[in-house]
Amino acid sequence: MKLTILGATGSIGVSTLDVVARHPDRFEVVALTGHSQVEVLAAQCRQFRPVWAVVGSAEAAQRLAGLLGKAGSRTEVLYGADALAQVASLPEVDAVMAAIVGAAGLPPTLAAARAGKRVLLANKEALVMAGAVFMAEVRRAGALLLPIDSEHNAVFQSMPCNYSGDMTRGGVRRILLTASGGPFRTASPELLARVTPEQAVAHPNWVMGRKISVDSATMMNKGLEVIEAHWLFNAPADRIDVVIHPQSVIHSLVDYEDGSVLAQLGNPDMRTPIAHALAWPERIDSGVSPLDLFAVGQLNFERPDLARFPCLDLAYRALRAQGNAAAVLNAANEVAVTAFLERRLTFLGIADVIAATLDVVAAAPVDDLAAVLEADRQGRAAALDVLARHAARSA
Ligand code: NAD
Ligand code: MG
Repeated sequence: MKLTILGATGSIGVSTLDVVARHPDRFEVVALTGHSQVEVLAAQCRQFRPVWAVVGSAEAAQRLAGLLGKAGSRTEVLYGADALAQVASLPEVDAVMAAIVGAAGLPPTLAAARAGKRVLLANKEALVMAGAVFMAEVRRAGALLLPIDSEHNAVFQSMPCNYSGDMTRGGVRRILLTASGGPFRTASPELLARVTPEQAVAHPNWVMGRKISVDSATMMNKGLEVIEAHWLFNAPADRIDVVIHPQSVIHSLVDYEDGSVLAQLGNPDMRTPIAHALAWPERIDSGVSPLDLFAVGQLNFERPDLARFPCLDLAYRALRAQGNAAAVLNAANEVAVTAFLERRLTFLGIADVIAATLDVVAAAPVDDLAAVLEADRQGRAAALDVLARHAARSA
C-alpha cells in the first residue's frame, strides 16, 4: 500500500511511521509533509525515501533541500498549501494519513477524500469544521474513511459490521465516548483558575501534540469528538454520551437495543488505531504491548462535570445549532488555545472566549468549502476581537 502522511513530523505522524517501519513489505511511503521541523522531516526522508516532501514555506523548503542534497537523497521538495493537496491526491497513492493539526489540515484532507483515497482521519478539526461537505465528498468519490482518533476507532470496531449509517437499523441505541478527564479531572475551580500551559500539556495517559493536549485539559477535545462522532456515524447529539474513564483502557463503547454493550480496549497508544486503519480489514503488529488487565486492576466511570468543563457543553450546543456553529467553535478554540499557550489568556478564559464568539457570529448555512472557510475566517476574527476586549478588561 502506497502512503502519503500529512503531518509526518507530529505525534501521530511519528507513530504512523513507527508502525510503517515494522512492515516494509506492506507499506511504501510516497510523500511526507511537515511544517517547520525541517531536521525531523529530513531524517524521516532519509529513512523512508519518499518521492515527495512538503513543508510550509520557501525558506523551509530551501533548508530541507539543502539537508537532503548533502545526504544524497532523491526526494523532491515542495512547499505550501497547494503542494499538500497535490501529494494528498496523487494517482499512485492508496492511503492518506491526515495528521495535520487544526484547520490547516482541512484542504489537503478534503483533497484526499475527493480523490477517493483510503483516508485515515486523525485531523478531527477537518470534520468538525466541514462535516457535511466532507462526508458528501467521501460518499461521492467512494473514499474509505477510517477513524484514527482512538474513541472513534473503538466505535468503528464496535459498530455492526457494514454499518450503513442508520443507527436504528443497526440496532444501536447510543454511542458512549470515553474521556480520561485530562490532567484536571479532580481539580477545584480555584486551581483551574491558575492552570499554566506547562500543567495543561502534561496529560496523565497520552503523549500528544500541544494543541490537543490543551483541548484534553479543557475537555474541548471530547466536545470536538462528539461532533466528529456525529458525522462519522450519522449519530444525533442526544445519542452520543460522554463517560469519564480515568484509566483510558476502554477507548469507547456502543450500546445496542438488546442490552449488549460492545467496547474496544487496549493500552493507551495511538499505534493501535493507526495499525488498525492501515491494515483494515486485516490485523497487523503495531508494537503496542498486550493489555495486562491484572496490572490495570480497576476500571472506573464518572459523569462529566459541565460546570467545571463548559467547553464540552459549548460543543454540544454548536452541534445542535448546525450550520456554521461548529466551524466557528473550532476557529474560536484554535485562537483561544494559541493565546493560552502564549500566556495571553487564562485557562478558564478559553471557554469564555469561545462562548462569546459563538454569541456574536451570525448563524449561516455551510453548503460548500467556501462557506466553511468563511465561517472559519469569521470565527477567528470574532475570537480575536473578543480576546482583545477580554485582555483590556483584565489589564
Ligand atoms: P502535533 O502538533 O504533534 O503535529 C502536528 C503536525 O501538523 C506536524 O507534523 C506539523 O508539521 C503539522 N502542521 C502544523 N501546522 C501546520 C500547517 N499550518 N500546515 C501544514 N502542516 C502543519 O499534533 P498531533 O498530536 O500529532 O495531532 C495531529 C492531529 O491528530 C490533530 O488534529 C489531533 O487532534 C489529532 N489526534 C491526535 C492524537 C494524539 O494522540 N496525538 C489523538 C487523536 C487525534
Ligand atoms: Mg481522542
